[in-house]
Amino acid sequence: MAETMLAERFYAKDHSIHLEEIPIPEPGPGEVLMKVAYCGICHSDLSLINGNFPPSLPVVTQGHEASGTIVKLGPGVTGWSVGDRVIPSAGRPCMVCRKCRRGDFANCLHLHLMAFAYDGAWAQYHVASAMGLTKIPDNVAMDQAALLADAVSTPYAAVVRTAQVHSGNAVAVWGVGGVGTHLVQLARSAGAVPLIAIDLNDEVLERAKRLGADFAFHSDDPDLMKKIEEVTNGRMIDVAFDAVGIQATVRAAVESLDVNGKVVTLGLSDQDIDAGPFLDFNLQRKQVRGHLGYQGQDIAILAEMLSFGRLDLSESISDVVPLSEVERGIDDLKNHKGNPIRILVKP
Ligand SMILES: [Zn+2]
Ligand SMILES: [Zn+2]
Repeated sequence: MAETMLAERFYAKDHSIHLEEIPIPEPGPGEVLMKVAYCGICHSDLSLINGNFPPSLPVVTQGHEASGTIVKLGPGVTGWSVGDRVIPSAGRPCMVCRKCRRGDFANCLHLHLMAFAYDGAWAQYHVASAMGLTKIPDNVAMDQAALLADAVSTPYAAVVRTAQVHSGNAVAVWGVGGVGTHLVQLARSAGAVPLIAIDLNDEVLERAKRLGADFAFHSDDPDLMKKIEEVTNGRMIDVAFDAVGIQATVRAAVESLDVNGKVVTLGLSDQDIDAGPFLDFNLQRKQVRGHLGYQGQDIAILAEMLSFGRLDLSESISDVVPLSEVERGIDDLKNHKGNPIRILVKP
């Protein structure tokens, strides 16, 4: 095996990124070395580069949505073999916060994030903790598998865990870009009816309809609430997702709710939440819940859904770029070129 590999490296001092030849890392105790097949480009990777997300290391390899094959086991690793196709967990519990010290690792308060607190997978090889690995079913393609770590698992956890969408719920999704498109697909599979996509962009609205939305409305339509009332036969929305994360969308999402309805917010901006007038909010017992992240087993559940044909992510891979062109992929995502759902890096 070669001793060095190509990796994309982020430098905190000037927020620059560089392609470098660096030594292939050695897996330590409890770790495995994997050859990276694909690794997605996520908005949170852009946030590190543009400064919206504070760097935790002076230099780090980016990329946290990966699939690959184990090529070497570190000391003490059991239950995994060289050749296993896996998805690494995108975070490691800190083991010292008050949650970790009660065994509540899933709710760790200082999760060490892959590609932020330790090296990620925009590289030919990646060292992963064996504890967080998910096995990829034989009939699931490596490119779709890479989507499961975060890009699909975060919306999955939002639909199933935080929103608890169930059969018969009227569901609306504000913002049907990458996250919103997966929210539409997963809400559909959870039994949402009717399912409404809301956005400003005609192209993404068409795509949302193709992937399962029953109706597509413009967010700036002055008759939006009237239209939602019409298509829900007056009952309005049980669960509204805000994948945009600005005051206008949260407020509209809250306004659209039926009594006891809830808004789940996944979008991020530097604005404050505005849930509208207290009287309407309290009287109708509305709720707003925040959401980010997923549980480890959500990746395995989604891998099974792909394996059994319950989920089709073939439209989710908008482009694949070689590692040498990672900057082009980053720019295309930043500029929304072709409204990408996910651009994958293939090292
Ligand atoms: Zn991500
Ligand atoms: Zn912790």
